[in-house]
Amino acid sequence: MTYEITRDYRSDTVTLPTETMRTAMARAEVGDDVYGEDPTVNRLQEEAARRMGQEAGLFMASGSMGNLVAILTHAGRGDEAIAGIDSHTLLWEAGGMATLGGIFPHPLPTDEDGRLDADAVEAAVRTDNPHLARSRLLLLENSYGSRGGFPLPASYFADMGAIAKRHNLRVHLDGARLFNTAVALECDPASLTEHVDSVTFCLSKGLCAPVGSVLCGSSDFIHQARRQRKLLGGGMRQAGILAAAGLVALDEMVDRLVEDHTHAFQLATGLAAVDGIVLDRDRVRTNIVLFELSPEVPLDAARFARKLAEDHSLLVDPQDDRLIRAVTHHGIEARHIEQFISAAADILTG
Ligand SMILES: *Cc1c(COP(=O)(O)O)cnc(C)c1O
Repeated sequence: MTYEITRDYRSDTVTLPTETMRTAMARAEVGDDVYGEDPTVNRLQEEAARRMGQEAGLFMASGSMGNLVAILTHAGRGDEAIAGIDSHTLLWEAGGMATLGGIFPHPLPTDEDGRLDADAVEAAVRTDNPHLARSRLLLLENSYGSRGGFPLPASYFADMGAIAKRHNLRVHLDGARLFNTAVALECDPASLTEHVDSVTFCLSKGLCAPVGSVLCGSSDFIHQARRQRKLLGGGMRQAGILAAAGLVALDEMVDRLVEDHTHAFQLATGLAAVDGIVLDRDRVRTNIVLFELSPEVPLDAARFARKLAEDHSLLVDPQDDRLIRAVTHHGIEARHIEQFISAAADILTG
């Protein structure tokens, strides 16, 4: 099978750097960033912090690294971090907080949009008792990946922030796709981070940069985070080559995310009309489409995905026995969406 990005719906991480990014990378002014002397990295960090409404930023090799550095900066051995049981940090980051930080995860269920229940969070906070781990950190996510990239509004973060304040918890927001949320809700991303102590967002997903995320927070927090990043081997040198693409990402690739959302909604609308697919298209609000094969379909998700790949060169991400994820991005245009819908109909209704 020949690989084409126009047929790859596994994730928005497959996006390729644009020509403008490659030019900016080739011409980037660089220095040694471990000395804080790479002007392009510094510009990216300042711009990222400004967008996030925070004092300072720190360039990271990945979103997972950004989250881990944040967690290691906020908490230490014997501390506990409350998080959604299906959050990216608990599921997909190799258990970093426990493995490398001695930090104990306290998973809580989430609702269908990815919200933690306020009473459940209150009840999860430990009292000061030598038998118990110390509640220290509340981890939030937006958009919420495992709930189909649902964009959570600022009011939810205000509620969670108030609980955190009452119990002296720090709040870190995994905002890998925070710009998708901001575009979907037509709000300033900074309005979603007012009640958190730190936030990470990815440049390498829908924003199309080849590499990188930025962790943002107070100047003091970022000063401490630099040590944790160095500890993890993330002190990069002439990283301005990468940061240059990130600056283009922030400058040129944010507003166009609305196209990815439109395509996802088109895909959802088309798939919902195919016999054998169960999907509520009104839940598709950003660039992720989650759909289920109905019980009478004789294929499971993995076999359906294999048929899409073998017969139609289309790649998707099976989530469990029935559930499948398709993500739209810069490589996908309206005509590709039609192709996908016909391929699904072909497999399911022959
Ligand atoms: C992609 C993603 C991350 C970080 O992923 P990396 O591949 O490490 O950059 C973190 N959280 C969420 C919700 C994500 O979707």
